[in-house]
Amino acid sequence: MKRTKVIDILKSEDYGKTIVAKGWVRTHRASKVVHFIALNDGSTIHNVQIVADTDKFDEELFKQITTGACLSVEGELCKSPAAGQASEIHAAKIEILGPCPGDYPMQKKGQSFEYMRQYAHLRLRTNTFGAVFRIRHNMAIAIHKYFHDHGFYYFNTPIITSSDAEGAGEMFQVTTLDLARTGKDDHVAYDRDFFGKKTNLTVSGQLEGELGATALGAIYTFGPTFRAENSNTPRHLAEFWMIEPEVAFMDKDELMDLEEDFIKYCVQWALDNCQDDLAFLNKMIDKTLLETLQSVVKENFVRLSYTEGIEILEQAVRDGRKFEFPVTGWGMDLASEHERYLVEEYFKRPVIMNDYPSEIKAFYMKKNPDGKTMQGTDVLFPRIGEIIGGSVREENYGKLLDEIHARGMDESNYSWYLDTRKYGSCPHAGFGLGFERLILFVTGMQNIRDVIPFPRTPKNAEF
Ligand code: ATP
Ligand code: MN
Repeated sequence: MKRTKVIDILKSEDYGKTIVAKGWVRTHRASKVVHFIALNDGSTIHNVQIVADTDKFDEELFKQITTGACLSVEGELCKSPAAGQASEIHAAKIEILGPCPGDYPMQKKGQSFEYMRQYAHLRLRTNTFGAVFRIRHNMAIAIHKYFHDHGFYYFNTPIITSSDAEGAGEMFQVTTLDLARTGKDDHVAYDRDFFGKKTNLTVSGQLEGELGATALGAIYTFGPTFRAENSNTPRHLAEFWMIEPEVAFMDKDELMDLEEDFIKYCVQWALDNCQDDLAFLNKMIDKTLLETLQSVVKENFVRLSYTEGIEILEQAVRDGRKFEFPVTGWGMDLASEHERYLVEEYFKRPVIMNDYPSEIKAFYMKKNPDGKTMQGTDVLFPRIGEIIGGSVREENYGKLLDEIHARGMDESNYSWYLDTRKYGSCPHAGFGLGFERLILFVTGMQNIRDVIPFPRTPKNAEF
């Protein structure tokens, strides 16, 4: 008999019908006359309750129904007398598909996330991680849907590249040479390497994304990104997924509109499509989760220049607010705690900070007439800090080349990039959203290692 997914069983009102459920045992408790087994198959956060009469089955069979065991159950769908569930299955046949011995690491409830991270291959079977990864899937769908509906083309940029994407982050080298034998970097004959030159894993698809946007009009990337940054923070991974839309003829105000509209759409999508999982996380992980998500969708984001932001931070320091990283004034790079002060304490709303000092931002950002600032537009979020980094791009060939020289970058590495400014240059803008930062926000989870199935961080590449 074909099995019915738990999510469909719980919706069904075909009482009296014989059905088959398959899944993993969450809990098993027994009275003298009857056993209750909560079965979950990952299709929903909810379990289906199996009711098995004690005298109908072998005691040996019941002994094998331990937390984590995999079962197939055939029985009658019945209206449940228990509160909180509409239906249950009265078991006629129970088959143990996979027994689960007592050393199952996910057996106990309430294990810490640090503990569960060591069992990333098994933590997927817990309620919390089931909820997180169902939501992660839904957010990916929302992102594709948003861009598709708004006329953006999904554009795949290379994962192995010889470009360093403005030094957005430290890079992982890709090579078929045995570097241990060939010697140190300067002596390596890269012409003998696979690609005939030094290559690395991409730190951002933006530069190639711009090539797409200046041809197709509007594109977005959605792919893996790699940064060998030794930053052991709850918001950085060495391998993460990034979404990078890039749009021709877009100015700074339109860019900020896009950032705000897009992220609100994603959050609203979660509210509309992940209700059960969000309700669970709201109860178990963060009691303010739903409230926070709803308020982000409702509120207008504050649009704040970097200069105003620094003034607010300086005033806060004068008023006695203490920060771990000092507020050193105009020109400083904001630390996450500064961003969160502005968002969580000062405005109590998301902030799109813009017009950053040129020195702290990338070479490709469009310069403002003041000669000091650039049209960067970062979105700062409660709990997360920077969730989006965006900017209008410098479209003027001469200005862009000057900036490349001023920064001591090697012009020859950017010839293809400069060509977009040389041949039919157009104003354009775009941003990068870290997918896992969005998932962190939407799920209420605290650590970015817990919103990607198999996290890669310094000294950790298990699985
Ligand atoms: P941060 O200052 O937080 O390190 P960044 O300025 O390096 O971020 P960008 O280079 O602008 O970030 O990348 C765009 C987006 O990618 C960021 O807004 C963030 O959401 C995400 N991101 C950047 N680095 C990481 C990382 N190591 N792990 C996960 N997401 C990241
Ligand atoms: Mn960074």
